[in-house]
Amino acid sequence: MSFATGTSAAVLAELLASAERAVVLTGAGISVPSGIPDFRTPGKGLWEKVDPMKVAHIDAFRRSPDEFWTFYGQRFAMLSEIGPNPAHDAVAELERRGLVRGVITQNIDRLHRAAGSQTVIEVHGSIEWCVCEMCGGKVGFDDVRAILTSGTPTPECATCISPLKPNVVLFGEMLPEDAMADATALAAEADLMLCIGSSLEVYPVAGLPGLTLDKGGRIALITQGPTPYDRECEVKLAGDVVEELDAVLAALP
Ligand code: ZN
Repeated sequence: MSFATGTSAAVLAELLASAERAVVLTGAGISVPSGIPDFRTPGKGLWEKVDPMKVAHIDAFRRSPDEFWTFYGQRFAMLSEIGPNPAHDAVAELERRGLVRGVITQNIDRLHRAAGSQTVIEVHGSIEWCVCEMCGGKVGFDDVRAILTSGTPTPECATCISPLKPNVVLFGEMLPEDAMADATALAAEADLMLCIGSSLEVYPVAGLPGLTLDKGGRIALITQGPTPYDRECEVKLAGDVVEELDAVLAALP
């Protein structure tokens, strides 16, 4: 695939306009313009001095909730200050125009919903809620933030005095079955999957574009850096995610 940027955007716009069951799949790259570093990029922000595979691991949460929350509380603080960027807005706009059925996201940052996307499948969970593993109770993000800023090291369930766990998929945990079932159905039915800001390396989500291809659908990529689907995609836009999506929207009929 080697088109000039404008040409590729026009190709993608045409694919979106002619698709009937298109779906978007997003990864960390779409949130980078909001100021959230991709932890796979070494030496950035929160992840500079820690190994995410260790501190954001389910074993770390079980072993020492206080230590886990020392780190995760910083993450909550950072995420409380950021908002959606024009790439999230563009994805919401595609859904409003009826060009995509929804968005499957690997991100836990709530930014697709904040931008106005209605059908959002969060396959790695979301920071929207923290959950009590004893009683299943849920506490919202703002309430957890209030507990943390009051100086409590670990937010606890008011009923069980059990440590709350962010409702996100930590390392070492399975993906939520319901969300993966929804994502799998959308991918299998899709005649076009537009993958944005994901290196498509982390399974099982990385297998979703392959499922679309197996069922006769097509895939398009907007992402910097290589993916396992670079050869099989109809078109790849490898520039800045905001600029590329702007160009695609501008090229829509
Ligand atoms: Zn509880």
